[in-house]
Amino acid sequence: MQVDYIIVGLGLAGLAFTKELENNNKSFIVFEDNSQNSSIVAGGMYNPVILKRFTPVWNATEQLEIALPFYADLEKQFQKKYNYPIDIYRIFKSVEEQNNWFVASDKPLLSNYMVSSISNKKIEGVIANNGFGKLINTGRIDTKILLEDYRKYLEETSKIKYNSFDYSQLIINNISIEYNGISASKIVFCEGFGMLKNPFFKYLPMQEAKGELITIYAPKLHIDFLIKASVFVLPLGNNYYKVGATFNWKDTTKLPTEEGKNELVSKLESFISVPYTIVAHTAGIRPTVKDRRPLVGKHPKYQNLAILNGLGTRGVIIAPTTAKALYNHLENNFALDKEISITRFE
Ligand SMILES: Cc1cc2nc3c(=O)[nH]c(=O)nc-3n(C[C@H](O)[C@H](O)[C@H](O)COP(=O)(O)OP(=O)(O)OC[C@H]3O[C@@H](n4cnc5c(N)ncnc54)[C@H](O)[C@@H]3O)c2cc1C
Repeated sequence: MQVDYIIVGLGLAGLAFTKELENNNKSFIVFEDNSQNSSIVAGGMYNPVILKRFTPVWNATEQLEIALPFYADLEKQFQKKYNYPIDIYRIFKSVEEQNNWFVASDKPLLSNYMVSSISNKKIEGVIANNGFGKLINTGRIDTKILLEDYRKYLEETSKIKYNSFDYSQLIINNISIEYNGISASKIVFCEGFGMLKNPFFKYLPMQEAKGELITIYAPKLHIDFLIKASVFVLPLGNNYYKVGATFNWKDTTKLPTEEGKNELVSKLESFISVPYTIVAHTAGIRPTVKDRRPLVGKHPKYQNLAILNGLGTRGVIIAPTTAKALYNHLENNFALDKEISITRFE
C-alpha cells in the first residue's frame, strides 16, 4: 500500500490533520489503539477568556476564526450538529472579582465575550451571593459524537486501522518511510499523552494533566447556560449536566478515581443546592506542555517524521489552526510560528 501520509492517533489533533489532508486531496491511513481518550471525554468548550484571571486565552480570537468554520464544514459533511453555542455564567466569589470583571470587560480582546454588567438574577438551585458575570460567543463542540462519526467514515473508506502503532517496525528512508507493508512520504504522530511512548519525540517536555468529569441528572435544575465556579456545570439537555473537571498532575492513568469523584462532588455542592444523581464518571489525560504551547513540527533528524500534539486544555480551538500550520510547513515550506514549533526545545 502506498499513501502520502501515515497518521498515528485520532483524537482532535489527528482529526484536524486528516481533514487538512482530505481538503488537499492527499491519501492517508490512520492507526488508532484507544489507549488515550482525552478528546472523547473532553468538555468540548471553546471560550476565549481565562476565567480565573479574566485575561485573554493565547491567540484565541484568531484560532476561533479557523476553528468555527472547521466544525461547520464537518457538520455539513455529516449532516449533524456538533457545535452548540452556549453562554457562560461565572459566579463571583467576592466584590473584588466583580470589579476585576468590569475592568477586564472593557479590554479590546475581551469585550466581544464579556458582558460588562453584573447579573444578580436568582436561579433555582444555584448559590451565587455575589452574582454572575456573563460570557457570550462561547460554546461547546460535541467531540465524542464528532469523533465517532469521523471514525465511522474512515472505516467505511478503509482509512483507519485499529492497531497500536509499533514504533520498532518503522523504517525511515531518505524521502519515504515504510511500516508493515505501507509506504508513505511522511508520518505525523498525534498520540496525545501517548507521545511519551514514542522513541522519536518523547524527549519533548510533556506533562500529564489528568482530568475527571461526572455526568449528573438533576431534574430540578433548569439552566441552558454553563455555570462556572470551582467546577463547571454544563447542560447536555433533558436535565443531564456534565460537571468538571479536576486537575491531577501526578496520576498518569486514564481511570476515574474515588478521589476525583469526591473532589467534584464537594465543589459542586458548594454552589448547587438541588438533589442530583451521578450517572457517569470519566477521565482522560490532557497532553500539556511545560510552557503551555502546542508541539508542532518535524523531527530534528528525520524530516519525514512530524508531530502535532501539546493541545493541553484547549484542543477544540487549537487543533484546526495548528493542523493547518503543520500542513503548510510540511507541504509548502511555510515557517512555523516559533511559539508552537518544537525547535524551541532543541
Ligand atoms: C477532563 C477533560 C476535559 C477537557 N475539556 C476540554 C474543553 O472543555 N475544551 C477543550 O478545548 N479541551 C478540553 N480538554 C482537552 C482536550 O481534550 C485536549 O486538548 C485534546 O483532546 C487533545 O487531543 P489529542 O488528539 O492531542 O489527544 P487525544 O485525544 O489523547 O488523542 C490521541 C489519540 O492517539 C491514540 N494513540 C496514542 N498512542 C497510539 C499508538 N501508539 N498507536 C495508535 N494510536 C495511539 C490514542 O488512543 C488517542 O485516540 C479536556 C480534557 C480532559 C481530559
